[in-house]
Amino acid sequence: MAPTHVLRCCQRVLAWIPVIFIALVVCWSYYAYVVELCLFTITSTGEKIIYLVVFHLSFIMFVWSYWKTIFTSPANPSKEASCFCLPKSEKEQYEKEQRPETQQEILKKVATSLPLYTRTGAGAIRYCDRCQVIKPDRCHHCSACDMCVLKMDHHCPWVNNCVGFSNYKFFILFLTYSLVYCLFIAASVLQYFIKFWTSVSVCTKLCRRKSAENCPQTDLQNTAKFHVLFLFFVAAMFCISILSLFTYHLWLVGKNRSTIEAFRAPVFRNGPDKTGFSLGFRKNISQVFGDQKKYWLLPVFTSQGDGLSFPTRLVTVDLEQPIECFLPNDLSNGAQEESPEQTSPPRESQSRLLCDDYHSGEDHKELEDLNPDQESIKISIESES
Ligand SMILES: [Zn+2]
Ligand SMILES: [Zn+2]
Repeated sequence: MAPTHVLRCCQRVLAWIPVIFIALVVCWSYYAYVVELCLFTITSTGEKIIYLVVFHLSFIMFVWSYWKTIFTSPANPSKEASCFCLPKSEKEQYEKEQRPETQQEILKKVATSLPLYTRTGAGAIRYCDRCQVIKPDRCHHCSACDMCVLKMDHHCPWVNNCVGFSNYKFFILFLTYSLVYCLFIAASVLQYFIKFWTSVSVCTKLCRRKSAENCPQTDLQNTAKFHVLFLFFVAAMFCISILSLFTYHLWLVGKNRSTIEAFRAPVFRNGPDKTGFSLGFRKNISQVFGDQKKYWLLPVFTSQGDGLSFPTRLVTVDLEQPIECFLPNDLSNGAQEESPEQTSPPRESQSRLLCDDYHSGEDHKELEDLNPDQESIKISIESES
């Protein structure tokens, strides 16, 4: 077996350690809560039943969403759509060619039939040499998964999977239910934590003064106490760490931005624009969670679109000029296509969703325009209905 292959196998096995750690903590928390707290500690039957019902509800939702985040394969452009792979003749031509400019010409020719609005920082078509595929908008290559992932957000070691188009909703729900799970445990354990904490302090003082045999507490009580005390600490610690990640991702969903895009704005043909995919708060939520609210809290796939193309804000409003709807600068001014850095990106205040004049009531409207090469490009524009 080749050493690189062995190394890769070891890496794959080691990558499961954080997931196993989380699974062990969750199993222990289940035992500590159900057995040590509810069965051995709580005496009131009513309280026991309420705690066990709520606990199991949050536990099931948490495990379900965690499972879906881990085991949903990242969506890959070469699997999802073969049109992003170069046709055989172009691929051979591309591989033979040494000059980057000619390679770009080949890519551009293929890309004319694809729904691509983003470019590299230098204005080139985004191509992954490793996967040999033209990268769709918002797609990035993950070195850990060794593949291109549609609408890649980040590679998460805690789920040992890439978070992207296929499982972003599951990831948000995983954060939501883990927060609910930890908050519920911390809140319901708090009174017993205070009670036990004070009694442990008293007991420790007593045991120091008397011999261990004279200690008033049995081993069983002590075990339960330490499980409950530890349960509160662990739940509170996870609550604090998950809360910041959860609020950050809610903010990203509201802005329709991935973590990668939050750090590096996507480059459109008229320049970088971090708000380029934002369609307004409600539509941004629907992009991830879908239109039907009844499915929002369930870890079932309801995200909109196919992950290969996304509606964009293709409007620039010049505050000095009458409002006009905007087709990308390069379509009206071909010379700028090659040098996007010459065009300044629209200021946030200048970027607007398409003006109402262009909305004729259909969900989608297709405009046709000619690019400098007289090739037809269709631009699908999401209506604001
Ligand atoms: Zn790739
Ligand atoms: Zn990955």
